[in-house]
Amino acid sequence: MVYLDYAATTPLRPEVLETIKNALELDFGNPSSIYQIGKKTKRKISSARESIAKLLGIIPNNLYFTSGATEANNWAIIHQAQTARKLGKGNHIVASAIEHPSVRETLVFLEQEGFEITWIYPDENKHITLQAFEAASTSKTTGWVAMAINNEVGAILPTVDLGKSAKQLGYWFHVDGVQAIGHQLKTLIPYVTSLSVSAHKFYGPKGIGFLVYQPWETAMLLKPFIHGGSQESSKRAGTENTPYILGMAKALELSLDEAAETQANLFEINQYLIEQLDNSAITFAINGDNDSRANHIINLWLPGFSSSQLLIQMDLAEIFVSAGSACSAGSLEDSLILKAYYPDDSQRWQESIRLSFGNQTTKEDIDKFIVQLNLIKERNHSYGI
Ligand code: PMP
Repeated sequence: MVYLDYAATTPLRPEVLETIKNALELDFGNPSSIYQIGKKTKRKISSARESIAKLLGIIPNNLYFTSGATEANNWAIIHQAQTARKLGKGNHIVASAIEHPSVRETLVFLEQEGFEITWIYPDENKHITLQAFEAASTSKTTGWVAMAINNEVGAILPTVDLGKSAKQLGYWFHVDGVQAIGHQLKTLIPYVTSLSVSAHKFYGPKGIGFLVYQPWETAMLLKPFIHGGSQESSKRAGTENTPYILGMAKALELSLDEAAETQANLFEINQYLIEQLDNSAITFAINGDNDSRANHIINLWLPGFSSSQLLIQMDLAEIFVSAGSACSAGSLEDSLILKAYYPDDSQRWQESIRLSFGNQTTKEDIDKFIVQLNLIKERNHSYGI
């Protein structure tokens, strides 16, 4: 099998599996119970929180475990928009138009609640710029939203610059950090009021993630999202998912340890793919912002190939790639991200695929992909497809 869809999810690391298994077996005590086995579990959760906080350079109290980035995105954005409006600051938010559905649909929900959203589309150079965010802001603006790295085309957004400016202007600033790997997450920390992360993108389990919440001012302190018990400082009630919290802490530690090495490998893989495509008879173009693109995500326009057909044919050969985000690939809808980049080029929306790489990707995987692409091209040609 050739797995080229790490942006959708990553396999669990063996060490993480071990941590989870141990916790499932041994740390079954309810962290809220006051007897020994409960207290022991509580201590383990605290040390996982401390370990993640230390790795990222944040205060442990600013870290909230969630069921993943979708929940963290919903929580942070809705809370900040509503609190700022209640404080009389305004009801306007500026957001990039290439956000993941968990951010985009949250903002659409807020729009229905009377908020005003200005979407920033890629400019003629395919860039989402600080200038565009500044120009779109008005006296009613309270916050900005921009993802660190786009999950479909790999565009790196200028989140550090956006955060610096947002802080000066007094706006809350939410970053979906899901596709930012290794040190990229750490770099962002001083410039965000909120940041969301999902463990299954860094070889941890699915269904667990966290929100970093650190407002510029106390008036914006986080409000509870799930009401009930006193877990997560009484802000997100419900018995903690101890095994996955411990597994996530382990996964983050290991992926930060290997960050430099992984980045170097991803850089090489990305270069190698482009070289091999250049040397082949395949016509291709890179979608999105190729000047500012993460090494682990590449979205290719392959004129003459239908993306849905290509996905099926690759699948039959046990090569797993994706057409845009996994969440939209299940349906036949065109990618809103490719539409945002190429509003007038519907052919491109239907002839593009996403490849994404991770710590197990090798040059041989890329070779197999190219061989298969050529085979599919020849086969389709002989059938007149
Ligand atoms: N944001 C981005 C950029 C993503 O890629 C994903 C996962 N596809 C999410 C948010 C949502 O993560 P989860 O489904 O784990 O909540």
